[in-house]
Amino acid sequence: MAKIPHRLYLTEEQMPTQWYNLRADMKEQHDPLLNPGTGKPMTEEELYPIFCKKLAHQELDSIDRYVDIPEPVQDMYKLYRPSPLCRAYNLEKALGTPAKIYYKFEGNNTSGSHKLNSAIAQAYYAKEQGLRGLTTETGAGQWGTALSEACSYYGLDLRVFMVKVSYEQKPYRKAVMQTFGANVTPSPSLTTEAGRRILEANPGTSGSLGCAISEAVEMATKTEGYRYVLGSVLNQVLLHQSIIGLESKKAMEMLDEYPDIVIGCAGGGSNLGGLISPFMQDKILGKADPRIIAVEPASCPSFTRGKYAYDFCDTGHVTPLARMYTLGNGFIPASNHAGGLRYHGMSPILSKLYHDGYMEATSVKQTDVFDAAVQFAKVETILPAPESSHAIRCAIDEALKCKESGEAKTILFGLTGTGYFDMAAYEAYLNHSMQNHVPTDEELQRGFDTLPVQPV
Ligand SMILES: *Cc1c(COP(=O)(O)O)cnc(C)c1O
Repeated sequence: MAKIPHRLYLTEEQMPTQWYNLRADMKEQHDPLLNPGTGKPMTEEELYPIFCKKLAHQELDSIDRYVDIPEPVQDMYKLYRPSPLCRAYNLEKALGTPAKIYYKFEGNNTSGSHKLNSAIAQAYYAKEQGLRGLTTETGAGQWGTALSEACSYYGLDLRVFMVKVSYEQKPYRKAVMQTFGANVTPSPSLTTEAGRRILEANPGTSGSLGCAISEAVEMATKTEGYRYVLGSVLNQVLLHQSIIGLESKKAMEMLDEYPDIVIGCAGGGSNLGGLISPFMQDKILGKADPRIIAVEPASCPSFTRGKYAYDFCDTGHVTPLARMYTLGNGFIPASNHAGGLRYHGMSPILSKLYHDGYMEATSVKQTDVFDAAVQFAKVETILPAPESSHAIRCAIDEALKCKESGEAKTILFGLTGTGYFDMAAYEAYLNHSMQNHVPTDEELQRGFDTLPVQPV
């Protein structure tokens, strides 16, 4: 067979025209979203004030295995997709490993991450429903940027609540969002009741995704013609992100390859859920048995040290309850944590799969993550996002294990984005001022104390 290329791009004709809904193949479903007022499962209609109708439907759909990607969404995908499946020849050589390392690179768009895959879909459905605008939260800023691009493309207004610490540390992210016409507010803010309540209880707070979600949901439900959108965690987002896995699997098939190990970083679980979806399908159906590994920061360890419990998706308790691996909705990661992936909870789909033993999880310290980021950047010439570098760390570690054992395993990991807006973190790493923070059990307990009473 001819040598495998460094970068394999599908043609536009080979791109998927349907998303894949992993829930249709899961042996057991995750526990339902609950209405915190009644304790009963949320119905599709109850979601309409928060999400637009098509997305509310997708959120609860465990039946339709494949969902058509609307043509206008496919058209916008073609502005930056298909994304390349890359063979990390240089990294393999530098490591001296017999392993074959592949990565799917999602950073080739202005938002610099995979988030655009879902932002386009969500903005499109909102426009189709005739809505005026959307509200959302953003942490590191990639989601806000992606959604700004999508809203500007479809002619929708956008209000972004940006976690205060990121707003201050990443002024240029804010400027990019504003360039695309978004209105950006640091969170917690005085513009919402939830924000005022959080500030009163905790005046010096640097904010969290949980706080920003409360503000964005409140703003959406109180503003005529607006809905709320979220860039991770939700089932609908994993559905849209399945394009990552579908393209990867097709490209690997063309190369006559199949991964022994699939690795992704895990914040709320959207890139990981998307990347693994067709491989997890094979695993559930007994067609293949790849190892699937979620990588999270040691300072925000939802899978590895969290509880599998019903929790609010936000700090102000305005969202439904989801059963997931969680550190508690009041959990706020250490302020010196620079690597993203700071959400307190985890996708209910992935939580269920992890709970049932279909996948593994591991946590890594941030200086080890940046060691991997710099090593990767030097040989592969892509400056990775800190989030993505969690997956790189794990891929390198697995490749080094292959070097020990002499096994030539095939490793696939998700390179979710680029790190151009994270240079303060890179600088802290390079001048050795970066510190690791691993929360003590007592610190984690403070988060668990904010879990709601569990339904019986
Ligand atoms: C948001 C983000 C992540 C983490 O989010 P998931 O929903 O867990 O995928 C990872 N990498 C990049 C570059 C991101 O922007």
